[in-house]
Amino acid sequence: MKKITLTLCPMKRIIIALLLILANLKSFAWGEWGHQHINKAAVFALPLAMRVFFYNHADYLVIESVGPDLRKYMMNDKVEFARHFVNLEDYNYTSAADMPVTLKDATARYGDSVLNKSGILPWYIEIMMDKLTTAMKQGRTAELLFIAADLGHYIADAHMPLHTSSNHDGQLTDQRGIHAFWESQLPELFGAQYNLHTANARYIKDIHQEVWNIIEHSHSLAAALLSADKQLKQSFKSSMYITDASGKMIKNKFGHLQYRGRTSKYTFRILACQANRRAARSDSDALRLVDRRSLFDHFRRKSFIRDL
Ligand SMILES: [Zn+2]
Repeated sequence: MKKITLTLCPMKRIIIALLLILANLKSFAWGEWGHQHINKAAVFALPLAMRVFFYNHADYLVIESVGPDLRKYMMNDKVEFARHFVNLEDYNYTSAADMPVTLKDATARYGDSVLNKSGILPWYIEIMMDKLTTAMKQGRTAELLFIAADLGHYIADAHMPLHTSSNHDGQLTDQRGIHAFWESQLPELFGAQYNLHTANARYIKDIHQEVWNIIEHSHSLAAALLSADKQLKQSFKSSMYITDASGKMIKNKFGHLQYRGRTSKYTFRILACQANRRAARSDSDALRLVDRRSLFDHFRRKSFIRDL
């Protein structure tokens, strides 16, 4: 079975995996809005011979794009949890070459408890790739669609910087809430304004290396992302999240924090505009990360986004 990747614009690769697909959207992963758009974008990036089949099942792939998160949060599936992230710091990561090749190798080296706590995302992506290949070879349509939808989710997660860091919700730097703000609220607020551009799929020969390249690149952006968030919050006076009577932030069914209503949306827009203006005047990587053109340059083609 041929393995194909999508090469999207100037961004980092995001999703892919519909059929041994790996796409190259840019590098952020996502709440419901993001996962659904990413899976759909991957369908349209496929070569024609594959696209027809997946297009006919696009609704399923879009709806099921959040299936792994639902299993994690709504069904409280303990096994599911570690599949969505990898805290590279916990593994003292220096290079992919020094990491275990397979999940079995990783289990032998670290043990289950470490893996459950620090994540297995890169190894699990490869497991799903193998399963997808097998399902396709055997023509098991329902199974391959299920796997493809899941795989799109995990590959998207691999492109989210905070899914590769032990400081995944800013908890180590007094920035709790950054995770949901970054992967859910920003796309929900601004996604309709961005164009989603997909280029043609390309074949990836070395899936293992590609997966680790994605993880490493995502991780390299985490510090800049946290820095950008800190600068934003310095100019944000009131709490942006809904809290209960005890002051604890409330989460939705996906485990995401809930931002306040229209007032906060309006405030977010102002902050984003301010950040854009600052980014235009600065070469700072941190500020560039909050520039919406950088953030969402995979949502570029307006006509495409309207069709989603
Ligand atoms: Zn996830």
